[in-house]
Amino acid sequence: MLSGYAEKRNRVFHNRPAPKQFSAMKKTKVVIAGGGFAGLYAAKYLDKHLARRPDVEVTLIARENFILFTPMLHEVAAGDLAPNDIVNPLRRIVRHVNVIEADVQDVDLSARKVRCAHGLDNNTLEFEFDHLLLALGSETNFFDNAGIRDWSVTMKNLSDAALLRNRMVAFLEEASVETDASARRQWLTFVIAGGGFAGAETAGAVNDFIRESVKFYPQLNDEQIRVVVIHPGDYLLPELGEELGRYAERKMRERNVEMIKGARVANYDGWVVTLNNGLTIPAATLIWTAGVKPSPVIAALPCATERGRIVADEFLQVRGFAGVWAVGDCAAVPDGYETGKFFPPTAQHGMREAIVAAKNIESAILGAELKPFRYRTMGMLASIGHHTGVASVFGFKFSGFIAWWMWRSVYLMKLPRLVKKLRVVTAWTLDLLFGRDIEQMITLRDVEALTERWTRIRAERKTRTAA
Ligand SMILES: Cc1cc2nc3c(=O)[nH]c(=O)nc-3n(C[C@H](O)[C@H](O)[C@H](O)COP(=O)(O)OP(=O)(O)OC[C@H]3O[C@@H](n4cnc5c(N)ncnc54)[C@H](O)[C@@H]3O)c2cc1C
Repeated sequence: MLSGYAEKRNRVFHNRPAPKQFSAMKKTKVVIAGGGFAGLYAAKYLDKHLARRPDVEVTLIARENFILFTPMLHEVAAGDLAPNDIVNPLRRIVRHVNVIEADVQDVDLSARKVRCAHGLDNNTLEFEFDHLLLALGSETNFFDNAGIRDWSVTMKNLSDAALLRNRMVAFLEEASVETDASARRQWLTFVIAGGGFAGAETAGAVNDFIRESVKFYPQLNDEQIRVVVIHPGDYLLPELGEELGRYAERKMRERNVEMIKGARVANYDGWVVTLNNGLTIPAATLIWTAGVKPSPVIAALPCATERGRIVADEFLQVRGFAGVWAVGDCAAVPDGYETGKFFPPTAQHGMREAIVAAKNIESAILGAELKPFRYRTMGMLASIGHHTGVASVFGFKFSGFIAWWMWRSVYLMKLPRLVKKLRVVTAWTLDLLFGRDIEQMITLRDVEALTERWTRIRAERKTRTAA
């Protein structure tokens, strides 16, 4: 069986019969770079279909050893869910794929190697590949604005959401002892840059959390709170269309969220937000959800890109580089079937692209025919706070409580692993019965102390290694 398989492999890659001794030793190496939605779904498929074979080795390289369920991230910021409710360990989901926690530094497409930094001392690890699936997602784009980069908070990963929740509690505490009225208002002003999915959902979550929590602070009141969304477009959530976008905006205004449309955040110094129209907003918190860019690893590759994303063909291959595939937010995948444009960067597309790419990698290895990626977007849902949502599903539009309920049901189904689903349902039920908790699990002082301690330990390790 081994030599038959190796012959097929050789036919696909080198178009020549397999030398038997060599083929008995060498494994076909598949490397997946990135352990988010796309990386994990590809790994899951390969775990079942290829990774158990003795002649194939599948490696998943990810920065974290877990997958973060981003659609529920704002619920962690809002204190509805605990951070570990929405993450799943990669090793519990895939059993035959090698999981390596490391940071991909660069990819050499001609030498067919992925170089990574691993561990506390950033040791170098190298992985050779016959097939490489690029699934590195995207990173926050601060558009080279140092003030925004240094002072804003982002909503991209688990610690962002956990820290945002802690920050809101910390600033309520600060405001409660502040005697200067304008400084108090500043502590309680939260500006959200961006009115897309992440921005609108975060604004709804922040508004709910801060307005519900303020009642436990007798020195403070609802009128001292400002939650402001800055959005460059005409209406919120452009992905859902004008009708639902305007509905979301109206509902959020009713709950005292201010909207400034047709404007962008131009600068932030940690205390005052300046807009491109000259308007200034004194605010202790700017939440930046206004831009993403692909990973620098992708930017350094000699491949065609579209707005920074690596261009894949309909089979999810990177043209001109045999055995290199790209999926998810880091890839521009053409929708030649429906819209003629590129698919949008969402989890629902990323995971489906990943499964087709994984099947195509299997087919390439086994000498079978590749299948194109065809997908009709099923719909999009957003939760905008206060048990309200907006949804567009199979062309039908929903809003209000029903859309919020659909949002919760759909994402609960999608959340990997039964144990996490049960945790989330329990947390939601307890929240309904008892309301949110407002304790600070990590204080800002803890974070500072940890960072200082860590910097010291690293410096000491370096000195000892040098000696
Ligand atoms: C707040 C928020 C809410 C969202 N809500 C929704 C929603 O409701 N519905 C929806 O469909 N989509 C939603 N999205 C978008 C969705 O999260 C992305 O489209 C999806 O995660 C893309 O999957 P991916 O695997 O391409 O990227 P990611 O899920 O971002 O995964 C990339 C992975 O690669 C890792 N990585 C990156 N660089 C390196 C490196 N150099 N070395 C090693 N590992 C690396 C990252 O740590 C990460 O694990 C949301 C996104 C955010 C931020």
